[in-house]
Amino acid sequence: MILEYDKSMLASIFGVPLFRANQIRRWIFSRKVSDFNLMTDLSREFRLSLIERFGSVFHGKELLHEISDDFTEKLLIEWLDGERVECVLLRDDRGHRTACISTQVGCAMRCVFCASGMNGFVRNLTRGEILEQILRLNILLPSEERLTHIVVMGIGEPLLNLHSLLYALDEVTSVDGLDLSIRRVTISTVGIPAGIIRLADYVKEGGKGYKLAISLHAPNNKIRSSIIPENKIHNIQEILNAADYYFKQTGRRITFEYTLIEGVNDRPEHAIELVNLLSGKTAIVNIIPLNPIKDSELKTPSKQVIEQFVNQLKSGGLQVKIRMRKGDKINAACGQLRRNATKNVTIQ
Ligand code: SAH
Repeated sequence: MILEYDKSMLASIFGVPLFRANQIRRWIFSRKVSDFNLMTDLSREFRLSLIERFGSVFHGKELLHEISDDFTEKLLIEWLDGERVECVLLRDDRGHRTACISTQVGCAMRCVFCASGMNGFVRNLTRGEILEQILRLNILLPSEERLTHIVVMGIGEPLLNLHSLLYALDEVTSVDGLDLSIRRVTISTVGIPAGIIRLADYVKEGGKGYKLAISLHAPNNKIRSSIIPENKIHNIQEILNAADYYFKQTGRRITFEYTLIEGVNDRPEHAIELVNLLSGKTAIVNIIPLNPIKDSELKTPSKQVIEQFVNQLKSGGLQVKIRMRKGDKINAACGQLRRNATKNVTIQ
């Protein structure tokens, strides 16, 4: 797959000067072209050898393309080994065009409220597979538009596939990629301290400092361990220490995600505990009302409870945002499409 190779590797594979690889890159990233035949400033002979070696720029198969009422679009992509992931294009009225991408097939974390891990972990995605999702979503936009944001909030735990992820993100944020500002790229993690520290050290050594979001979801270890099994291995304090280190190295404010689940973590006393846990930190809390999933009893709290919880956090001095649900009708959240799609899905 051509997306596995950087410019200089590509040039050396074909024994061509670097500017040829730059031309290909322009076609793929700026002109949104995935068919080598259309890359008309390359010689016919070179195009043919690209086709012979790679076929097309993309190697996944688009199994489903769904569009919801709010113009959220979702792709289900099948890779050569038959494994599938999903990725989502979100639009808002501020002009944000956000790609939500997956990093793994399945997930080993098995958070009880999340569809991605319900059938376990299969494998890491390659760097080319991660890039392909971003480029395919970019192509869904009209020719004059480009992605403005990337959130790594699809299937999988990004920090367990950090090497491939950073390659893909560094490519798309480069000037001759999609030229996205690194401030517009957010990596969301279940909270793996060693991974957060590695990411901070990557920045310390000159790497790009992407925004970090940590799935906290509970104000104490008892509740957190009951919904996120990984918390039994790395508890909240370890995660917060790693988050402090990330903030120190990068100066980037951390987001703490908090999925509100009825009767589990949505009580007034939980809000008080959360304020105590996070007060004094340069952080923002992102409240996500639970998106109910199949085969799970967990429910979203009422609007009133959500509002009260948010107000308590605000009056406790925390900065809070509520994440609106988008694309409900097309299973846009969290691994649901992959899980619900049968093996006999129609190819469009
Ligand atoms: N593995 C990463 C990315 C997961 S998806 C992580 O754990 O952060 C992004 C966010 O959506 C995470 O905070 C995740 O916990 C949350 N999430 C997963 N399933 C959800 C659901 N059914 N409803 C609401 N939020 C959910």
